[in-house]
Parts: sequence; structure tokens; C-alpha cells
Amino acid sequence: MGIKVAKFGGTSLADAGQFRKVQSIVLADEERRYIVPSAPGKRHSSDQKITDLLYLCHAHAKEGVPFDEVFDIISNRYIEIVEELGLTIDISAYLADIKEKIAGGYSEDYVASRGEYLNGLILAELLGYDFVDAAEIICFNEAGIFDQEKTDEVIRERLADCERAVIPGFYGSRPNGAIQTFSRGGSDITGAIVARGVGADIYENWTDVSGFLMADPRIVNNPKPIERITYRELRELAYMGANVLHEDSIFPVRQAGIPINIKNTNDPEAAGTLIVPNGVETAKPGTITGIAGRKDFTVIALEKTLMNSELGFGRKLLSIIESHGISFEHMPTGIDSICLVISDDQLEGKLDSIIEDIKHQLKPDAINVYPNMAMIATVGQGMSRTPGIAAKLFGALGEAGINVRMIDQGSSEINIIIGVETEDFEKAIRAIYWAFVE
Ligand code: ASP
Repeated sequence: MGIKVAKFGGTSLADAGQFRKVQSIVLADEERRYIVPSAPGKRHSSDQKITDLLYLCHAHAKEGVPFDEVFDIISNRYIEIVEELGLTIDISAYLADIKEKIAGGYSEDYVASRGEYLNGLILAELLGYDFVDAAEIICFNEAGIFDQEKTDEVIRERLADCERAVIPGFYGSRPNGAIQTFSRGGSDITGAIVARGVGADIYENWTDVSGFLMADPRIVNNPKPIERITYRELRELAYMGANVLHEDSIFPVRQAGIPINIKNTNDPEAAGTLIVPNGVETAKPGTITGIAGRKDFTVIALEKTLMNSELGFGRKLLSIIESHGISFEHMPTGIDSICLVISDDQLEGKLDSIIEDIKHQLKPDAINVYPNMAMIATVGQGMSRTPGIAAKLFGALGEAGINVRMIDQGSSEINIIIGVETEDFEKAIRAIYWAFVE
């Protein structure tokens, strides 16, 4: 029998009805053996997430402010879930213990982690699975850094005789037993770690959307879902601002070459998005996988005759920006010209002194600064070694009347990045999308 690890996000476990959906998804496939839940999320847009309320309780307790009212909201959510599911777990006893510990000054990480802990206990009973506390198997070192080697070893040992288990997401523990959480949204990381530890065939990440979309739906009307994408393509899209899984949250499975399937708890039949190891064919030649972009860049453009033969020019330029504590995003070059594309949040307050240093040290013939630039990445394995892709892309932009200010294509040919004026950003994304998608 294969092994699937399934992580369920907060909205998938926001109330008893959602728990029931999770139950039927898990029980529909006997390979779904290790389940990683988040804490209850929002039931509707104005609702509160349990994790946020737990942080609030801790903050109040720390300031000596009563937190009973906030804690009651948390308690009621869990009590309602347990009652509606008809479970026997004595949730009130667990809640009373947690409340006492919050009042007793337990750490912020401990308090925040209880949302997942309680959801884990509830889900384990509902599914008839073992409950394995993440504190036992997700290991951090004394300095609070995640210890992958130790965790892999502990997971293998602890889960060897445990055929089916629920393991709460978001936290683990240090060698002294102190609870430590990952960054917000960290249940994704726990799911990936468990998938790697048990050598899963697939890591299912259940959310409330049917996978990633090819473009931002606020810009493109009803964009198509991405069916398959490689880790590498995903990274390029995420880097350029697409709202997809964060790099940190997938490194354990990426390293192990385990595919991730993004699925929708509210529409389990939809295929979702399958993230596969690099090198696996994902797309037909001539197609793109997705488009993403970001605003708020500044371009510094330098010109100098015979720049190309001036030894050390590029190095000096880069050491100037390094000396200002700045990193650049892209650096397209011409024969006698070089551009640096820098994100505005890096540049804040430093532009004038950088320009001064460049003028002084490099003596360029011209130096121009172009603010208000936006960068758009068109990503896809199907673009590589396919003639006509660039013509199609730039043809569409030309037809839409968009002036492309900068072009950058990596040697991998899976990503063409263009720079446009901020005001052309949305229009450019739509033009590219409709050039490639019928
Ligand atoms: N409950 C945690 C948070 O809200 C972790 C997670 O949902 O993944 O950040």
C-alpha cells in the first residue's frame, strides 16, 4: 500500500461541517495514512482564526489584561465542533488546562500551537487514527533552528509501527521540550516534513481552492487552473509574486522529489494542481504555465562607451550597491550599457547616495533612473526550445500598445521577464495571458 500524507488547512477544518468533509476525503482512500491539520480558520470573511485569538490571549496575559472573553470565543468554537461531531473527547478539560497555562505565563509559541494541538486530538478521534503530538517528532535544536536530520530519524522510528496517525501542524519542540512554532502558515511545512520522513508517494495539501491559477484572478477574468507545474516553475512564479506555496514550506518534499497535489476540500473531485520534480514533462511545447508580476521597482541604467572592455566595471557597480546593503533583482546588459533593477523597498532613502557613488567611481557617460517600473514573468517549461514564443509574447504586448522597457530571459528559457511602466502592469498581464490561452 502506498503512503499519502494529507495536510488540511484552516478553512478545511473551520467547523463541524468541514470536519465531516475531511473525514470523508480521508476515509475514501486508504493510502491517506498521515494527516496534518491546521487550527480552525475563518468560516466566513469577517470571522476570526483560532491562531490569531490564541496570540491575542497570550498578549493580554502578558500585559496582565484579562483574556477570558477572547478565550471563551476559542472554547465555544471547539466545544461546538466536538458536540456537533458527537465525539467523546473531554475538550473542556483540555481547554481548562490550556487556559491555566496561558495565565501561568507559558510562552507565545506554546499558546499559539494549541490551535493545531486541539484540532489534532479532535480529528484523530473522528477518523479513528492515532494521535501523535508534533512535539514528539518535529525537532528544533537549542538555537531554535529546525533539525531536519534528527526529525527524519525520529519520524521514521516513531511512525514505523503506527499505520495511521494525525499529527498537528505548525509546531515542534526543542531538546528541552519547549514548544516552538514555524512561521505563520507553518502547517504546510509540517505536512512536507512528515511526507518526507515517511517517504510518502505524494503530499496532498488540501485548501479551499482547486489549485493554483495561471494568473491573478483580480487581473485576469476567470484564469485557468495550473494542472501540472515543476518545483522550478513554481519557484519562479512565487518569486515574482504569485500567491502560491512559499519556498520554505516545500523544501523537505522538493529535496526528496515527492510530488505535491494542491486540492480543494470543498470540491474534492477537482484535479487541483500537481507540483512535480524538475525534469518531469509538465506542458505541451508552445504553452505557458503561468504569469506573475510585481510592481514597485526602480531601474538604474548606465551607459559608457567601451564599458564592455573596461575590466572590473560590473564588479565595481555591484560592490557599490552591496556597500549600501542592497541586493538587485535583475541586471540586463547591452554592449555599452548596463541596468540594475532594484526593488523600491530596498532602495528607500538610498538612491541619491548610490548615484553619487556610481558617478564618482565609475564615471559613466550617462546615468538614468526610471522609477515606477513593474516586472512581469511569463513562466513555462513549454516555452523552452520552442520557436515563436517571444514573437507571440511581444506581438501581443505591441498590439495592446504597451511599451516594453526591459527584457530579461534566463538561459533556462523557462522564464521571460519584462519591465513595463507600472500603469501598464495589468494590461500587459492580460495581453500575455490571452495570447497564450484560448
Ligand atoms: N494556524 C497557523 C497560522 O494561522 C498555522 C497554519 O495555519 O498553517 O498561521
